[in-house]
Amino acid sequence: MARIGFIGLGNMGGGMAANLAKKGHDVRAFDLSADALARAETAGCLPVGSAVEAADGAEAIVTMLPAGRHVAEVYESLFGVVAPSAILIDCSTIDIETAKAVAVAAQGRGMAAVDAPVSGGIAAANAGTLTFMVGGSAEDFARAQPYLADMGKAVIHAGANGAGQAVKMCNNMLLGATMIATCEAFALAQKLGLDPQTFYDISSVSSGQSWSMTSYAPLPSVGPETPADHDYQGGFATALMLKDLRLAMAAAKDAGAQTPMGSKAAELYEAFAADGQGAVDFSGIIRTL
Ligand code: NAD
Repeated sequence: MARIGFIGLGNMGGGMAANLAKKGHDVRAFDLSADALARAETAGCLPVGSAVEAADGAEAIVTMLPAGRHVAEVYESLFGVVAPSAILIDCSTIDIETAKAVAVAAQGRGMAAVDAPVSGGIAAANAGTLTFMVGGSAEDFARAQPYLADMGKAVIHAGANGAGQAVKMCNNMLLGATMIATCEAFALAQKLGLDPQTFYDISSVSSGQSWSMTSYAPLPSVGPETPADHDYQGGFATALMLKDLRLAMAAAKDAGAQTPMGSKAAELYEAFAADGQGAVDFSGIIRTL
């Protein structure tokens, strides 16, 4: 079992740190929020007073922070503290440029670093069933893998540093677009007089099927239980979908890629969030159709 520093104990990080502690690791946990620290203590982690304290003497340092600027700031504070033998594992969803820059800075100091963003929301973080998409060298991936396996159901090497973030934004751009297309299809089906459950039964085993249709149907009482059955509460907040779409649009611009469907999804989620729906599950956009 290892000594692990865990920084960022919010909705996602809280459950992830708890799972590492459950597996028997010695988890030194830090967050700016006193409530988050208290929850981590209850979950079997040792709360500490700073990121530096969490990282000092750790074999692995896991970060789960809101955005690139938080990761860059925390990493900067850790350089000189983290032993060169330690591995830095950033599980936050951040821009590719920052992911690459912090990895290069860490490697320049002799440390290993990977980006390892996740798929799966708060429920998967709590249950230890996240999917990790990892960017880094084959050697660093092999070192990060056992820690990530203790928090997830799948750990997949995506390529060099930054590739984890690239997969994450392409995946979530696809998710945003398929969700809106699925919502449109249900809205049209109803206007054409179809029973939504019947449409689901057929489309979810036909060529229209996707995760948004089959596993996350955006209407109550249709398909498996989803946030639609709970008035679109819980699940994956519109504000987080919008964050990921903005990251994808910025990356597409930098790469000179044409993303007309992704751009439209970003535009529609911008409008939905601006209408005060940022906390609502992203499938709630069906209410606008
Ligand atoms: P959150 O806001 O609940 O948690 C972030 C935590 O980081 C907060 O507790 C905050 O106090 C802490 N923090 C911020 N700056 C800090 C610092 N300098 N030092 C220590 N702690 C600091 O966010 P979340 O929902 O847990 O998301 C975390 C990351 O995971 C984000 O990058 C998000 O995009 C990604 N993500 C979230 C979900 C989801 O469903 N919530 C799903 C996949 C990926």
